[in-house]
Amino acid sequence: MSTMPVPTSPVVRVEHLHKVYRTASGELVHALDDVALEVTEGEFISVLGPSGCGKSTLMMIVAGLRSSTSGLVEVAGTNVSGPQTDLGIVFQRDVLLDWRTNLDNVLLQTDIRKLPRSRYLDRARELLHEVGLEGFEDKHPGELSGGMRQRVAICRALIHDPPLLLMDEPFGALDALTREDMTMRLQTLWMHSRKTVMFITHSIAEAVFLADRVIVMTPRPGRIDQVFDINLERPRRFESMSSPEFAQIVNEIRDLFRATGVLATDV
Ligand code: ADP
Ligand code: MG
Repeated sequence: MSTMPVPTSPVVRVEHLHKVYRTASGELVHALDDVALEVTEGEFISVLGPSGCGKSTLMMIVAGLRSSTSGLVEVAGTNVSGPQTDLGIVFQRDVLLDWRTNLDNVLLQTDIRKLPRSRYLDRARELLHEVGLEGFEDKHPGELSGGMRQRVAICRALIHDPPLLLMDEPFGALDALTREDMTMRLQTLWMHSRKTVMFITHSIAEAVFLADRVIVMTPRPGRIDQVFDINLERPRRFESMSSPEFAQIVNEIRDLFRATGVLATDV
């Protein structure tokens, strides 16, 4: 008797997804056009596209925080019909509460859900430690730099150990050096946890550096233009950004953006 492989459903499944917004003045904005996407367990995918192509819309629909116009959206095999609790979200703005300590900010979700603190306290400390914020537990977000605040926000998104982490341009408001530092930290964190991650960015290098797969979107209405498998060895180091393999993928993506008019062909 042969044993059949156990079919695992993807963590995120999107098919024929359309989103049309109606603005306050009654105008229709076609944000997403027939988007299809599957993210398997433990995979890190980057969604890359120009500003306004519908990246945030896609993420908000996956999180159940915004409705679709039509199409199928499943998380962990279940149809998304309202806000999902079994995922973590990190936005560009960290939305930390300044009157709470950093530790209490990490515990915000568990407090809101009235989960016992005793069960999550150690994990909260461990997460802060893991992102290099040991000793800052009892300080307040106002005493931290932008990069440190964003690390607290990442810990907060992970405190209830969700299988899926959604990140919408999480480093977009940080300076270039901090951004590099955060990229490296995120890779380390991901390699330890192997969460499924959907990472949204408009930085080509960041997308390629972090991901197993880069999903490139077209300008609005956002469609999936091409998908790139990134087979670079991990852990990746900044030096790998100057490797011929890395440069080739980045160039291919640039060409794609030139073809869709996102980047100028010659300047
Ligand atoms: P991105 O995150 O890729 O920059 P968004 O998903 O935020 O793009 O937006 C995609 C398009 O939809 C943009 O043209 C934006 O102006 C429009 N849009 C987003 N939210 C709304 C809304 N609530 N009402 C009307 N249009 C919207
Ligand atoms: Mg956005």
